[in-house]
Order: sequence, then structure tokens, then C-alpha cells
Amino acid sequence: MAIEFICHSCNQKITVKFLKPGETASCKNCGAKNIIPEPNSSVGGSVLCGLKSKIKNIEEKITEPESIFKISEEKAQEIINRWIPKALTVWAIDNFFFYVLFRIDMKAKTLES
Ligand SMILES: [Zn+2]
Repeated sequence: MAIEFICHSCNQKITVKFLKPGETASCKNCGAKNIIPEPNSSVGGSVLCGLKSKIKNIEEKITEPESIFKISEEKAQEIINRWIPKALTVWAIDNFFFYVLFRIDMKAKTLES
């Protein structure tokens, strides 16, 4: 039996055919997840389901940054593994040239005096 209800996010009418009350359905218009209310439920009942849907969406948003953090942690490790040896090599080459230039400079100064 099809259940009709209003999206809590965009107020679009949603019709579900194969889902049961209490399950979540994504709104075709805005993508918001709605908890399906009991068919022919009272206004209060559908408002409650709307609130439940809002809480569920907030909960999902709260858990999202965690996964982003996990990805960034892996990325950070990858960056460290990739760039630290390069940075060290550049630093070593830089220091070596600085040392050579310093020696040349010292030699020039000793020749001058
Ligand atoms: Zn919607």
C-alpha cells in the first residue's frame, strides 16, 4: 500500500510504495531523508516523524566530519611519507650548496688578506 506524506525539508509530497512506516525515504525533490509516518496519521504524528527525520539528518551530519577527519588523517600520513624525504633532500642539497658557497667565500677572504 502506498503511503503519502510531506517532506519535512521542502514540503514536497512524497509517495512510497514499497517502504514501511518507520523506514527512511529520500525526497526526490531535495534529497532529505524522511522517516515514513503511519498511513493516515494525524497532523501531530506526521510532525513528530518530521522532527525524527530532522534529528536523523543532524545525527548523520555530526558523524560525517569524523569520516572526513579519518580521510584527512590518511592523507596527512601520505603527504608526510611523500614529502618529508623530498623536503629533507632539498634541505640537504641546500645546506651543501650553502656550505660550498661559505667555503668559497672564506677562501676568497683569506686570499684577499
Ligand atoms: Zn524534500
